[in-house]
Amino acid sequence: MIKIEKSTYIPDILMDKGRKDRERICDEYSSFPLDYTSRPNFSNRKLKKVDIDNKIYGDDTVKKQLIEDQNGKCCFCESKFLATSYGDVEHFRPKHAYKKGRKLIYPAYYWLAYDWNNLMFSCEKCNRTFKKNEFPLLDEATRVKNHTEAANLPNEKHVLINPITENPESFIKFNQHIPIAINDNERGKKSIKIYGLDRTELNQDRREYLNFMKILEPYLDIDENDKEEINKATEFFGMPKQDIIELIKTAKQYFKNAAKKESKFAAMIRSNFPYLSKN
Ligand SMILES: [Zn+2]
Repeated sequence: MIKIEKSTYIPDILMDKGRKDRERICDEYSSFPLDYTSRPNFSNRKLKKVDIDNKIYGDDTVKKQLIEDQNGKCCFCESKFLATSYGDVEHFRPKHAYKKGRKLIYPAYYWLAYDWNNLMFSCEKCNRTFKKNEFPLLDEATRVKNHTEAANLPNEKHVLINPITENPESFIKFNQHIPIAINDNERGKKSIKIYGLDRTELNQDRREYLNFMKILEPYLDIDENDKEEINKATEFFGMPKQDIIELIKTAKQYFKNAAKKESKFAAMIRSNFPYLSKN
């Protein structure tokens, strides 16, 4: 996970339809707050649910801008998966309900459903299998419970690292391909668990990519313009001269880009090859 640099441009649909619909939702809630609010000895199923329009936040123009801002990567796992799946528009603060222990609490952050700074692009696995409705706080007393308290949001002590406002690399680094919380910090540990950053398939994907980079690393030391070095390499690798030169150039190109924000698993690459430039 790396910091997301969001565009200052906010998709039009969020500015017009989104703003209007936010007003409607807030009015709806304000007229009968209790009807929407979880309480003891009352089934969530009997509650009214805030009617959020997924056609607004899920509009193609919103998704397209998020994908562009995030360079086609999942906001959490940094996978580049667009060749095989569509991905989700994900809400950092959940829109309908949040989990407290094993229970779901309604409503959640309905007034942020169309808020540009609450939206990210994520892979389906991170969103649907792992994060889902999770939004734990370090101090439950700071929870903002409805839109009338929205001004207190900056004081809310959320556990999950927010890649829009924080630098995830201050909390999580990588030991080889495995994510670990820096100095065992609590928010890093919980974020790894809740976002599923150490799930088996993801660890395997990262390991494969890291191995590939390690195999290429020795080529970085060879100067493709030095005849003597190229002759030595040709002999050592048992390959035609031109192929070796191409391979060296390709390896250097991979390493030039691997730590940049545009590249997949950039945080892992930065941890393993700290000498690489991020720009
Ligand atoms: Zn993901």
